[in-house]
Amino acid sequence: MEFRDLKQQYTVLKPQMDAAIGAVLESTHFISGPQVGQLEEKLAAYAGRKYCITCANGTDALVLVLRAWGIGPGDAVFVPDFTFFASAECVSNVGATPVFVDVDETTFNMDPASLRLAIEGVKAQGGLTPRVVIPVDLFGLPADYDAIAAIARAHGLLVLEDAAQGFGGHCNGKMACGFGDASTVSFFPAKPLGCYGDGGAIFTDSDEEAALIRSFAVHGKGTDKYDNVRIGYNSRLDTVQAAILLVKLAAFDEEVAATYRAASQYTALLKDAVKTPVVPKGYFCSWAQYTIQLKDAAQRDKVAAALKAQGIPTNIYYPRTMRRQTAYKDSLPAQVVHSPTAEKLCERVLALPIHPYLTPELAAMVANAVLAAL
Ligand SMILES: *Cc1c(COP(=O)(O)O)cnc(C)c1O
Repeated sequence: MEFRDLKQQYTVLKPQMDAAIGAVLESTHFISGPQVGQLEEKLAAYAGRKYCITCANGTDALVLVLRAWGIGPGDAVFVPDFTFFASAECVSNVGATPVFVDVDETTFNMDPASLRLAIEGVKAQGGLTPRVVIPVDLFGLPADYDAIAAIARAHGLLVLEDAAQGFGGHCNGKMACGFGDASTVSFFPAKPLGCYGDGGAIFTDSDEEAALIRSFAVHGKGTDKYDNVRIGYNSRLDTVQAAILLVKLAAFDEEVAATYRAASQYTALLKDAVKTPVVPKGYFCSWAQYTIQLKDAAQRDKVAAALKAQGIPTNIYYPRTMRRQTAYKDSLPAQVVHSPTAEKLCERVLALPIHPYLTPELAAMVANAVLAAL
């Protein structure tokens, strides 16, 4: 069994996919071909944003926004303690300081109360200037943007939505990649909308910001390609990846619906035995991951081993909090808030196979294996 079945997806999409890739090969327009602009238009419309700027990967997307906002040394950027490393790595890469915030036990997303304490703590300490908050749409569920935006506004912070895992999710009619002052997504193959390599994009409604981000992404170009007006990056999505994403985007809504059915089946079968993921009222999760919580690390590891013995893959997202990452252990200033919930989740979480091609038979087999292991 596959954890995320990209082979089956390719088999289903093969005729359109091979034609789309073949067309790029025939054209030899490998960088900045017309498919890139077409994709950007379609993605912006999907997310309900004025602009989409594609780039080389989801990590670059975060860095490009921070650079466009002028974030650097002396700035504090608030990041959930329970996320993928890149959510904070981008902050360190521009010379700013990540400040880690605890998460909510039921949604896995940034806890607004902890964010407020962290901002107030940094202000009271002095030294760093609070500038940005990066809520993450973890596992496909949008963060609590109403609460987070209110806190950010009160303290003069910008909000950068890290929707690397969130594409396809929504909340009260607003799509992921449409929250905050700017948003980013990753097209890493295993994300809800993935390409066949690395890829990413940035979303914004601001004319000036869109122009600035595009400049940073292409060597700091000015209006003339050989007039470089700032030090930028080489961060583009290539034409082959754009062509692949156009095919995947056309199939995306159907895939999200199929993934939703698989997740609902898991919840129905497992909710009385383990803690199943909660999608609050008004929210829709695109199920980048389906994560259950066990009693403790021992029970979690027992269930994972039992599933593995039956050929069922599982993953632990995430085994350690950000502040416990080796790269950060000794290099960060003392953090202003603790994250007991994030610590607890690292011991208890287990992600089950989830994807649009998980049949009801396979989902039942996985759920029954979990129940048997308990
Ligand atoms: C995957 C991921 C990223 C980085 O995306 P890449 O395309 O792999 O660079 C950033 N943030 C989160 C939460 C992610 O899951």
